[in-house]
Amino acid sequence: MADLIITAPVKGWAASLDEVPDPVFGDRMMGDGVAIHPIGSTVHAPCDGVVATLHAARHAVTVRSAEGAEILIHVGLETVALGGDGFRALVAEGDTVSRGDPLIEFDMDGVAQLAAALVTPVVVVNSEAFRIERRTTDKLVGVGEALMTLSPIEMVTVSLSGQKVMTNVVVPLVHGIHARPAARIGEAARAFEADVEIVHGERRANVRSAVALMGLGLKLGDEISIEAQGPDAHAALDAVVALIESGMGEAASLAAPAPARTPVAAVEIPAGAIGGITASPGLAIGAAAWLRAEALDIPNDAEDPAVEAASLGAALDKVRAGLAASAAQGSEAQRHILEAHLAFLDDEDLLNTAHAHIANGRSAAHGWHTALSEQAGLLRRSGDARFAERAGDLDDLDRQVQLALAGRDPEARSFAPGTVLLADDLLPSQMIGLDVAGIALIGGGPTAHVAILAAARGIPMLVAVGTKLEGVAEGATLVLDADAALLHVDPATEALAQHRQRFAKQTERRAAALAAAHDACRTADGTRIELFANLGSLDDAVLAAANGAEGSGLLRTEFLFMDRAAPPSEDEQRAAYQAMSDALGGKPIIVRLLDIGGDKPAPWLPMAAEKNPMLGQRGIRVGLAHPELLESQVRAILRVQGDCRIMVPMVASLSELRAVRAVVDRAAADLGVRPAPLGVMIETPAAAMIADLIAVEADFLSIGTNDLTQYTLAMDRENSAVASGVDACHPAVLRLIAMTCEGAGGRKRIVGVCGGLAADPPGIPLLIGLGVTELSATPAYVPEAKALVRQLDLTACRALAAKALGLDSAAEIRALARKFIEELN
Ligand code: PEP
Ligand code: MG
Repeated sequence: MADLIITAPVKGWAASLDEVPDPVFGDRMMGDGVAIHPIGSTVHAPCDGVVATLHAARHAVTVRSAEGAEILIHVGLETVALGGDGFRALVAEGDTVSRGDPLIEFDMDGVAQLAAALVTPVVVVNSEAFRIERRTTDKLVGVGEALMTLSPIEMVTVSLSGQKVMTNVVVPLVHGIHARPAARIGEAARAFEADVEIVHGERRANVRSAVALMGLGLKLGDEISIEAQGPDAHAALDAVVALIESGMGEAASLAAPAPARTPVAAVEIPAGAIGGITASPGLAIGAAAWLRAEALDIPNDAEDPAVEAASLGAALDKVRAGLAASAAQGSEAQRHILEAHLAFLDDEDLLNTAHAHIANGRSAAHGWHTALSEQAGLLRRSGDARFAERAGDLDDLDRQVQLALAGRDPEARSFAPGTVLLADDLLPSQMIGLDVAGIALIGGGPTAHVAILAAARGIPMLVAVGTKLEGVAEGATLVLDADAALLHVDPATEALAQHRQRFAKQTERRAAALAAAHDACRTADGTRIELFANLGSLDDAVLAAANGAEGSGLLRTEFLFMDRAAPPSEDEQRAAYQAMSDALGGKPIIVRLLDIGGDKPAPWLPMAAEKNPMLGQRGIRVGLAHPELLESQVRAILRVQGDCRIMVPMVASLSELRAVRAVVDRAAADLGVRPAPLGVMIETPAAAMIADLIAVEADFLSIGTNDLTQYTLAMDRENSAVASGVDACHPAVLRLIAMTCEGAGGRKRIVGVCGGLAADPPGIPLLIGLGVTELSATPAYVPEAKALVRQLDLTACRALAAKALGLDSAAEIRALARKFIEELN
């Protein structure tokens, strides 16, 4: 037999199997071969042959060549645990394939995030029958390039004799018998002369062949017979049975439990209350209502594909009309979200997938559900919080179309006045039209998108409350004290009366604050503090103006750039900024240059996959990598008639400020206008530590406490598992703020704060005490922030801040600042 060439099934770096950190492959238990560190995401046939096995989880495929060589391609390590998520099979078992034919497609980023490793062993499973004569390693290989040359080994046939023994076993492995256990069983059996076979239903496989064993597709709970025949049949049977029953480290009962989401409490929780994380401050009292979706019946099959296709079309039209009507009536933020939903309904890939399922005899409901859930799964596994949010939007649309297909009306999201809404998590789209007194979520993060929307609307909100929230009954009386991060459930009559009194006082205080919202903002001792508002839309600007904001300390321009197919033109941007400047009556607006990347991807900007997007191409790094984008935004800002200033996000080095300064100066010269003041956001510990150097060249500094906290504490602001620790009152964050104020003070530069701490009551006296003179809060909170500032005395705030800097936890600092505020009243 002539030598057989095995070509690379996937583009990547070819390496020795020794590099694979899994003994099944590294110790050649599965057979000899080569590993590939893939840079392509499609697995191709390595030779002409037949698809001998394709695992149900679609992560591993074996091709048997006409000569009998069995080549296993196992994408990544421990990928069986993904259960097929992120993998798409392009062939089926038994298909005849030619060298180079695509076999499996996989989502490289998603799999890389979730798998133990992406390294892909390419193994000759029946190495006893084929010897590797030549192999390629330490080299980049393209699909179709020679990877191994195999030559057949003369086989000696042994005839077996001896008794046959058998026993039954239930598969205890959580992922069934996939490549790794199959290899271990084969290895165990090879120590004996006896032949061992596993029988499942009508099918049987000799366990020496891992491919044959994988081909049985054995799953957790399958009852199998194990048969051994030969001189040492008993011993062989015992060894194989013992190995399978041991679960090989993958026994179902040993499977890792889902991580608990209950946050570690930062403060002592009083009896009858549940702790959470404050996402939006305030107090709400009302009846509990759960936002829970009733399970919908999705029929699998249908008789007539033409009828199903027509019903899907009609359902999509119905949902489209509903969304368009809501978009026309709603706020600007609402319109943006609904327009993105409308675009999903017309997405060709989604529609093609749904129609392909329908053509295969599936119902319209099944086709649409499968198309959306596959896509949502890919987004969820991207590991990126923003993509995951989009996945939720797809779930939302799946549901809306299912309801339309069932001839039902969209689910009403209206609640009785005074409702405290409870949910597992909430999507930005679900916030639309939601009129509730307060919100508490099992998951979520304090600076996530929904949290920002709730804060902008002044709805008190707790997130990351954990699974204890599930015990709260529908209709229970709740006191949501977001200021104290507590949810009191069915409080006793006396306690409830006290909360109601506090609520009445809060309402009174708010009314008084609103009445004085347009008065100047000075501390009690006369220190001027500018009270600005953060803006993310024209609606925000209108509310900010009504609430007495003296300008905007942060215009998040991302709203203009996200959820669309192409970036806005210079003219479109100018018009949007102008409208906001006009809404604020020409008061100063600090326009932040585009802060995309990280947790805020933009679909129109192709970005290489990043392992740690929050530490990658984000903020000004994107602008500097795409000068045309930066330039058009700078020009748009400079063309606004009014007081627009420019602020640079995510600065870590002075060189970034200098590069932007050059762009601003050039654009201003070109337009014949004065360059706008240019400030720096202090969001990285690096920027805080070189604030003195930044202050030499920047016109102002503004501290983004959300990111400064995330980067200082190394805690992802979107991750509910660490949400309880993401607190800007942490002494490390406060010390960096102090350092920033000191550094900028030497140059008499204004230091503002535009992160969440500026709208967090304990934060306000602390920040003023540390030297901050401009606060940019959510528009809804501006009147109360002004009212609080008016009660403060600078010397007392300085003493408070000095004391806080000596404490060792955020909880202690918060308690100290809360007491300080209570004593003002
Ligand atoms: C911050 O990081 O504090 C900030 C204001 O920016 P953003 O929340 O938009 O990242
Ligand atoms: Mg930020």
